[in-house]
Amino acid sequence: MSKHTPSFIESIAERLHLIPNLHGEIDELPPIVEPGKLTDYPPPDKWDDWTEYEALSGQKREKKNYMIIPTTCFNCEAGCGLLSYVDKKSLEIRKFEGNPYHPGSRGRNCAKGPATINQINDKDRILYPLKRKGERGSGEWEQVTWDEVLDDIAAKIRVALKEDRRNEVVYHVGRPGHEGFIDRILQAWGVDGHNSHTNICSAGARFGYAIWQGADRPSPDHGNAEFILLISAHLESGHYFNPHAQRIIEGMMNGAKLAVMDTRLSNTASMANYWMPTYPGSEAAALLAMAKIIIDEKLYNEKFLNDWVNWRESLAELNPDSEITFENFISEISKLYAEYTPEFAEKESGVPAATIIEVARQIGRAGTRFSCHNWRSAGAGNLGGWAVARCLHFLNVLTGSVGTVGGTLPSAWNKFKPAGFSTPPAQKFWNELHYPLEYPLSHYEMSFLLPHLLKDGRGKLAVYFTRVFNPVWTYPDGFSWIEALSDESKIGLHVALTPTWNETAYFADYVLPMGLASERHDLTSYETHSGMWISFRQPVLREAARKMGRETTFTYETNPGEVWEEDEFWFELSWRIDQDGDLGIRQHFISPYREGEKISIDEYYQYIFENTKGLPEVAAREGLTPLDYMRKYGAFEVEKAVYEKHMDPVAIENLAHEDIDAARGEVRKNGKLVAIISDGKARVGFNTPSKRQELFSKTTKDWGWPEYAFPTYVKSHVHPDNFAENEVVLVPTFRLPTLIHTRSGNSKWLAEISNRNPLWMHTSDAERWGIKTGDLVRISTEIGYFVNRAWVTEGMRPSVVACSHHIGRWRRVQDAKNNRWATNQVTIKEEEPGKWKMWVVEGIGAYKSDDPDTSRIFWTDGGVHQNITFPVHPDPVSGMHCWHQKVVVEKAHAGDEHGDVFVDTNKSFEIYKEWLAMTRPAPGPNGLRRPLWLARPLRPAEEMFYVEKK
Ligand code: SF4
Repeated sequence: MSKHTPSFIESIAERLHLIPNLHGEIDELPPIVEPGKLTDYPPPDKWDDWTEYEALSGQKREKKNYMIIPTTCFNCEAGCGLLSYVDKKSLEIRKFEGNPYHPGSRGRNCAKGPATINQINDKDRILYPLKRKGERGSGEWEQVTWDEVLDDIAAKIRVALKEDRRNEVVYHVGRPGHEGFIDRILQAWGVDGHNSHTNICSAGARFGYAIWQGADRPSPDHGNAEFILLISAHLESGHYFNPHAQRIIEGMMNGAKLAVMDTRLSNTASMANYWMPTYPGSEAAALLAMAKIIIDEKLYNEKFLNDWVNWRESLAELNPDSEITFENFISEISKLYAEYTPEFAEKESGVPAATIIEVARQIGRAGTRFSCHNWRSAGAGNLGGWAVARCLHFLNVLTGSVGTVGGTLPSAWNKFKPAGFSTPPAQKFWNELHYPLEYPLSHYEMSFLLPHLLKDGRGKLAVYFTRVFNPVWTYPDGFSWIEALSDESKIGLHVALTPTWNETAYFADYVLPMGLASERHDLTSYETHSGMWISFRQPVLREAARKMGRETTFTYETNPGEVWEEDEFWFELSWRIDQDGDLGIRQHFISPYREGEKISIDEYYQYIFENTKGLPEVAAREGLTPLDYMRKYGAFEVEKAVYEKHMDPVAIENLAHEDIDAARGEVRKNGKLVAIISDGKARVGFNTPSKRQELFSKTTKDWGWPEYAFPTYVKSHVHPDNFAENEVVLVPTFRLPTLIHTRSGNSKWLAEISNRNPLWMHTSDAERWGIKTGDLVRISTEIGYFVNRAWVTEGMRPSVVACSHHIGRWRRVQDAKNNRWATNQVTIKEEEPGKWKMWVVEGIGAYKSDDPDTSRIFWTDGGVHQNITFPVHPDPVSGMHCWHQKVVVEKAHAGDEHGDVFVDTNKSFEIYKEWLAMTRPAPGPNGLRRPLWLARPLRPAEEMFYVEKK
């Protein structure tokens, strides 16, 4: 507080109330800590009664009394902790800040976390359940009650189940969560109905990791690393953005060096010690050249390779006549990778050979402290993108940095699995709309092919739930989605569960408002670092009401309007589907605490927390139940650090001498491999058939891809060999750190920061095309085109263009006004069968509303919807959609306007067929649909894995 003495003029002005009285007696708040010390967060013992100055009252320093309630951010997968400040007088949430008790985010958030406040206060949000009135897609809606919704949907599902049309009931998730919750629901219903967005996101990278070690994600220990290699912009916008970014910076502050492979000079690349602007799809060539250097210069970790890699099988495969010795193995892999010279890698990638050599040596020297990550980017962009992850992990394997301090851990070690109070049996169905025979190794469902598979006559859906999922806008080939969603003979009932309007919800029968971060229950746990944690998402106003002595039956009673949450929705729906109890569903929703009664949401979480390792004891120390502990702190650290879990000892009873194969370092029981011997003890090993890291993948060979049995470089569909002279690569996958996919549309702060997605191009390309920054350009894909503005920059690799995919949101004239911070108003017309046009009729602009900020909108450019002009490109091995596009860039044609889009869905169907023809379908060995050992979400009963049911 200033001790300034008011001037005469100030005193008069204060007395006349022309300015606030700034010099009267003020009852000052005590400091949180002693003067000179710093703290960022109110102490938890004051969270129920916290007073601070009201920011909007400025110098008047009015006070506000809050209840501080933790929850979990819902704006990306990272699941960072948030603290919600609830005004005790008005019972409104005023702001969100970081939760310092969250082990992943440690009190920090990216811009998207605090922006949750915009989303919950957005005037355009959906507040009540809506039912379609006119034709599907007509934009006419009426408000209905939750009871009507539940009864109608339950009746339709009940009929489908009774008629054994169980593959017609499908739940399709965009933003996941719930840690196993929906699996329990679907398995209780007995349907093979889980579909996800993974194949447009991470299936490529996941497959590359899974065939090495079972676990399908990397969990890098960046904070303790000596060398960090990132494929793409993870520091700025990548996977687990904020939790990873803070640990990358920590690692660098402790001396780690950072290398980044990225076509763009992203913010991450600009922070790196080495920027390697690889040509898209060439990353595996550069990585194998590094592997070759590590092998040739003997920088590898011999002990790790010897104990933990299936080198004997690898050697036998490479040279069946060779004597099985480790030296012979090294000699054979040297030969295998001899062609991947730094010069070859330079030719493919454009990165100087000298840089590749230098980075390889640094990785080799970092040894067990080498951490790395590869997620969407290269793994998601290219035919054979999965090979990038496989080759990147090869560097971890060579250096022995798998599961070590400062290394890269298998994800499963760091992800918590909650206990279920009742486990429904695995379903006895196999849904070929999700796992068609053509893709036996696909990592997760072939979700983006759904419209094509329906068009191909392979099935139909009776009830289709889309959960926080917007394929019309986020997926490739959105017009094929519009065609499918508009056809009631293909999709009987479409239920959109969504916190905000989106382009897919326009084509629903029910639009059901589901809560945001502070409006729902949920549980998250992710591999953000070497520890293991759980985070509790909770409906904050319901918890505030409880603390004030008001009990609530359903969460929508305390949320804005009648916004609900999915947990309770699924409980209620399941109960009503099985109205007589004859379907066997209700038995999985009975309270573990009250005999024969329906479980409540509190009981569901109570059971999980009571069965979370270490939580009951920690809670008891504070005199709390486990549930109350989670309500209070919002997160719990299950394990502080999890390293070298493959070394966990195995206690094997009645071990006979003949069970131990000392030469191979293996223990078998009745012929089955049960442990690996390392340092003289039996160890659990990795989650693969060999319990080791699988350099030679027998699975890949047995399932029809022998050429990919070892880590290799797969030439992408955007390799220059495949291009005509006027074609270039479009990289459409890069992210902006301040935007979510669909849900930033109702955040004014985020839209104010980022509201354009121009086409990045290098100066030399712009000169070649005669284009300047701001010029309109037409970008033609295989199935259509879009019109965008150019942004000419040196921060882009020549002969590659890039466009961020977050922007280009739209609403049609007939749709409810929504997301007006970010949506253009458009007209869509099918001019001939399959020939679709979209153009902007009104851009973004200021308007009057209850929120004064709507009249301050200064941006007009809502960007361009590029994804809708892309055909599907399913990788024949991993099933990943290969996002990168072969395009022609030219000056806009006469009459072209910014935001114009044209697509021919007949062509997109032809391209689907072309890529389908590249597959090598099941059955595989023993008549299997897919390998038994590879993970599959919502795993069916084992008999269902056989094409001919056994
Ligand atoms: S990284 Fe940002 S958006 Fe993602 S969970 Fe954390 S705060 Fe939310």
